[in-house]
Amino acid sequence: MRGLLIVISGASGTGKGTVCKKLLADLPKIAYSISATTRNPRPGEIDGKEYYFLSVAEFKSWISEEKFLEYAEVYGNFYGTPLNKIEERLSRGEDILLEIDVQGALNVKKKCPEGVYIFLLPPSLNELKNRIEGRGTENPESLARRLKNAVAEIKIGLEYDYVVVNDDINAAAEQIKAILTAERLKVARNTDKFEFEEDFK
Ligand code: ADP
Ligand code: 5GP
Repeated sequence: MRGLLIVISGASGTGKGTVCKKLLADLPKIAYSISATTRNPRPGEIDGKEYYFLSVAEFKSWISEEKFLEYAEVYGNFYGTPLNKIEERLSRGEDILLEIDVQGALNVKKKCPEGVYIFLLPPSLNELKNRIEGRGTENPESLARRLKNAVAEIKIGLEYDYVVVNDDINAAAEQIKAILTAERLKVARNTDKFEFEEDFK
């Protein structure tokens, strides 16, 4: 079976990174698509692990070399999904997880409508603010920008296929696993199983 292209989005601070880490730990067969970004690394982030950290000039040359499946400007920085043989990997049966913003996800959805588009919601806007503040990674300007965009980003979640509320992290991860199980059982992904020969004995 062709692999699943799994796309997860949600407002900054919802817990996308945390949920994705849990999914990758629990489901070792899923590969994480490492994005490129021009934002500065946060403490502990390693180039080539969380992101490929590029200068704006490097990012622009990746664009002109057509190295991206999609890219977008998010909160004043560029972010993009490297093509990185995604098509070959899917056709080999590998599942690939993209954690990208709503603009990028809608662009991917146009190119890959068979992907699985999951929107993660926070339990409330107050909890979103607490989480992003609690993470301690944003300066006041970046924090304000992320919170200001949150409501508009959440509205775009209506374009996705599935919604998961990240109240309890384990419950959210289990719900996403259930979505993936159901997706793998779709008739459209299993037409080969219907090819029986009439060879009764
Ligand atoms: P995002 O990737 O969506 O910006 P993160 O995964 O960095 O969000 O999570 C933001 C903060 O919220 C982190 O400090 C994380 O530990 C915390 N967090 C994530 N999920 C939950 C949850 N279900 N309950 C409580 N805190 C959470
Ligand atoms: P952060 O700076 O918090 O890591 O990410 C900020 C936003 O950029 C998040 O909404 C995240 O999903 C998004 N993002 C991360 N990688 C990509 C990418 O490759 N493409 C797009 N379009 N958005 C991305």
